[in-house]
Amino acid sequence: MAIATIDSALLEALDAEFSGTVLLPGDDGYDEARQVHNGLVDRRPALIARCLGTADIAEAIGLARASGLEVSIRGGGHNVAGRAVTDGGVMIDLSPMKGIHVDPDARTARAQGGATWKELNRETHAHGLAVTGGAISSTGIAGFTLGGGLGWLMAKHGLGADNLIGVELVTAGGETLNVSDATHPDLMWALRGGGGNFGVAASLLYRLHPLSMVTGGLIAHPFEAAGEMLRFYRDAVADCPDDLTVFAAVVHAPDGSGLKLSAMVVFHTGDPADAERDLAPFRAWGSPLMVEVGPMPYPVMNTLLDAAYPKGALNYWLSSFTTGLSDELIDAMIERFTVVPSPMTAILLEHFHGAVTRIAPTDTAIPHREFGWNLLLPSEWLDPADTEANIAWTKDSFAALSEHFSGGRWLNYLGDDQDNAIQAAYGPNYDRLVEVKRRYDPENVFHLNHNIVP
Ligand SMILES: Cc1cc2nc3c(=O)[nH]c(=O)nc-3n(C[C@H](O)[C@H](O)[C@H](O)COP(=O)(O)OP(=O)(O)OC[C@H]3O[C@@H](n4cnc5c(N)ncnc54)[C@H](O)[C@@H]3O)c2cc1C
Repeated sequence: MAIATIDSALLEALDAEFSGTVLLPGDDGYDEARQVHNGLVDRRPALIARCLGTADIAEAIGLARASGLEVSIRGGGHNVAGRAVTDGGVMIDLSPMKGIHVDPDARTARAQGGATWKELNRETHAHGLAVTGGAISSTGIAGFTLGGGLGWLMAKHGLGADNLIGVELVTAGGETLNVSDATHPDLMWALRGGGGNFGVAASLLYRLHPLSMVTGGLIAHPFEAAGEMLRFYRDAVADCPDDLTVFAAVVHAPDGSGLKLSAMVVFHTGDPADAERDLAPFRAWGSPLMVEVGPMPYPVMNTLLDAAYPKGALNYWLSSFTTGLSDELIDAMIERFTVVPSPMTAILLEHFHGAVTRIAPTDTAIPHREFGWNLLLPSEWLDPADTEANIAWTKDSFAALSEHFSGGRWLNYLGDDQDNAIQAAYGPNYDRLVEVKRRYDPENVFHLNHNIVP
């Protein structure tokens, strides 16, 4: 169908120059390339440009524009709303672009836009260095970082975006810019959290930090203890050091039994004695069913929850920052979790404190800089017959908990169907983002994202 809209002369010209692979519907590998993390996403690009380098990206943008076709950008393919894939347009697929170069003296890493956190962590770890990455290792570095990027290291070193110091960016006009604070201060500001609105990040330059071993792991309690555990958790992290980050959740046992649990995921970047001291209250509280906490290389910490988020599972997520963690919110979370339809779903509290909260709301495009929690409803299930029930539960739970929400939204978790969510994600930075968008993408070529309308 849509392939008929690509002029054959343009296609031949692309084929002659392109270093990567051009996939059309019906080609070997086409169906695999259009699949992303969320199995609910089933879109069919007219052409998939599997780029090998920056010039390929510019070429693919040119072809799409000359053909009047929509552009989507695929980094790691983790966006839950599936914005990496266009129906009938040109998908610029960076997944073959995984080059990573660490400069241990400068403590920086340049990584291409198709790398995942597993791959970047592995390379930086080889030099005893690290940067804030996602909690799940298969997440793409590009979409994650451009959308803010919260993770275990944010209390110690800020968000992924706070550590982004340069971007090799291919613009809507096909120009390649080496963006930094020195060369393009407004654009660099916008790239720290403004998403994929301004161009294709061919590579990203990160500031790294010395870090090798950490202490981390899981502590699980019976679901019946959830109320007490979450109250303990709230008080225990009230003034915790930057070295310590604890997320808490109501979850299901990973064995598929459907057993409900309450749990804390703990993470500590300090030396073993400090970790022992700071984690002691979490280990000692209540009557845990499981305490699996110990020293591990940082990259291992970023794989601890991987098994709970398999590629191809069906996903529908909603999230919001909360106004604290009141007893009423805790009770409402527990009430909603008693009627959750899928044994894969959790309700997760992500704690913001430390370095991430010491940056001013307008210093980067990400305004969410307050001590507190982001509450995530990451619904997951396997049987398409269960889709309606799971989406309904997620929406109903979001509505039921909304009186405890602050109004702020985490950009990276947004889906497709949320009123005013974009403004809630960018907050006071929205107008400045619009100005930058007008300068670099006035025709809104890059609109399959959390769109800033020029
Ligand atoms: C299981 C799971 C765990 C997650 N954990 C976290 C977490 O811990 N912290 C967090 O903050 N978020 C998390 N997320 C959300 C995730 O960061 C976002 O979905 C992010 O967009 C993923 O990046 P990606 O490159 O994999 O995305 P893709 O789906 O490939 O791309 C999503 C969008 O990002 C933009 N984009 C991607 N690559 C580029 C590029 N090279 N240049 C320009 N724009 C680009 C495009 O607009 C694209 O539409 C998680 C998501 C999942 C499914």
